[in-house]
Amino acid sequence: MKKALNILIASPEVVPFAKTGGLADVTGALPRALRRLGHNVSVILPRYQMVNEVGRDIRPISTKKRIHVPISARIEEAEIYESKIDKDIPVYFIDKKEYYSRPQLYGTEKGDYPDNAERFIYFSRAILETCKALDMRPDIIHCNDWQTGILPVYLKTLYKDDPFFQRVTTVYTIHNIGYQGIFWHYDMHLTNLGWDIFTIEGIEFYGNINLMKGGILFSDIITTVSKTYSKEIQTEEYGYKLDGVLRKRNKDLYGVINGIDYEIWHPLRDKFIKERYSEYNLSGKDRCKRDLMDIYKLTSKNDSPIVGIISRLADQKGFDLISEIIDEMMRLDMSLVLLGTGTERYNRLFEDVGKRFSGKAGIKIGFDDPLAHKIEAGADIFLMPSRYEPCGLNQLYSLKYGTIPIVRSTGGLNDTIEEFNIQTGKGNGFKFREYSSKELLLTLKKAINIYKNKKDVWKSLMKNAMKEDFSWENSANEYVKLYRKALSNRKLYDEG
Ligand code: ADP
Repeated sequence: MKKALNILIASPEVVPFAKTGGLADVTGALPRALRRLGHNVSVILPRYQMVNEVGRDIRPISTKKRIHVPISARIEEAEIYESKIDKDIPVYFIDKKEYYSRPQLYGTEKGDYPDNAERFIYFSRAILETCKALDMRPDIIHCNDWQTGILPVYLKTLYKDDPFFQRVTTVYTIHNIGYQGIFWHYDMHLTNLGWDIFTIEGIEFYGNINLMKGGILFSDIITTVSKTYSKEIQTEEYGYKLDGVLRKRNKDLYGVINGIDYEIWHPLRDKFIKERYSEYNLSGKDRCKRDLMDIYKLTSKNDSPIVGIISRLADQKGFDLISEIIDEMMRLDMSLVLLGTGTERYNRLFEDVGKRFSGKAGIKIGFDDPLAHKIEAGADIFLMPSRYEPCGLNQLYSLKYGTIPIVRSTGGLNDTIEEFNIQTGKGNGFKFREYSSKELLLTLKKAINIYKNKKDVWKSLMKNAMKEDFSWENSANEYVKLYRKALSNRKLYDEG
């Protein structure tokens, strides 16, 4: 029997406590999957305002333990709160009201929270101080995204000779390389690191500080959330200027696809949808479609498909393509249902679409988790024409709900969606390669045509999709292998 590992997952957002995107789903589900494999897992995140909106049974309570964290020339105190996932996974929260008790996690527009460098440099160091305060000695600290990027740097510099951390190894996961935590060099004092770290081999990046670069260079193993994305980010087109750094660490870089929490996202178990259903009995899906039409006041006929979109409204997600052809799209025999929020330009554009095509386009600008479930269940087609997509979760939810994804073949979309072949009956969705609105429109027309004119074929496509299994178990096993590899690389573990 291999030894059970002690794993601490450090993340700026975790379901069910705080979420802005897919990262939260991942760091909420991965601990449970690791636990099921017999490992000891804890999780740590900041205590945001949003954290107190969870149900009373899981609302964090104070451990009464305090930490004292150096930041610049000051020592700032914080309190550690605690809750649990699934009764046996401890979740710790850094309670520091000045930093985290705000309406949003990071702010939506650039400059909303000008102290983000301070907030997350503090968070990263506070995690290490929490380990000490709680006498928690993980084998692995699994860091996620730019907000925890400086933690591996600390372990190899300021904490290098600290006996407490001699056996700690780090794995760093990039969920989206488009967000790197870049701050001006005047913030360097916040890190308490010397200027020797502000170099091209360190966290310097075109004259600025880059926290993600720290995570990439100083962690023991780096992962990202799909195999295709792990290759893409090493190219100039997708690397956001970190491609060279990643190529340098190429032999320690792995792609592990995200899993799905089928306790939450499954049409047989979903607590938000009108009627539950399965691949063997699809009548519930019709009911969910009618419900969705009522919610969005759609007047189209039942035999035309509803195309769903749930997304951050950002360029990354392909909204520039959609906006080029939106009028043409709305003239097709389909309805559009969109739930999303993001840049003002797209918020306004889609509000306008909702007004101009009322009855045919249902638009909700905002974040609404129950509605996201209703769309997955009630729509027929799910649209994700992303410019780049590290993994993507919505296409995976869509598969399980029999809502056929149309995607651009990039990153995780490429790895999880197989083009449907009408001759062989194989495949689970539709994809196009070139990032162009013309390709998108052609693919959409192809899907609508099959939906309307080849009902049996569409049903078999739905069945293919619903049979797919992207549960966490496989991915969690891959992470465990990488954790062990990280330990054995540092001679802290014998792979045997
Ligand atoms: P990303 O993390 O890049 O935003 P993913 O597809 O990986 O994209 O994950 C997005 C997650 O956030 C999904 O769980 C999706 O359902 C959810 N989501 C995105 N926008 C909204 C919204 N407006 N309302 C509710 N859920 C949303």
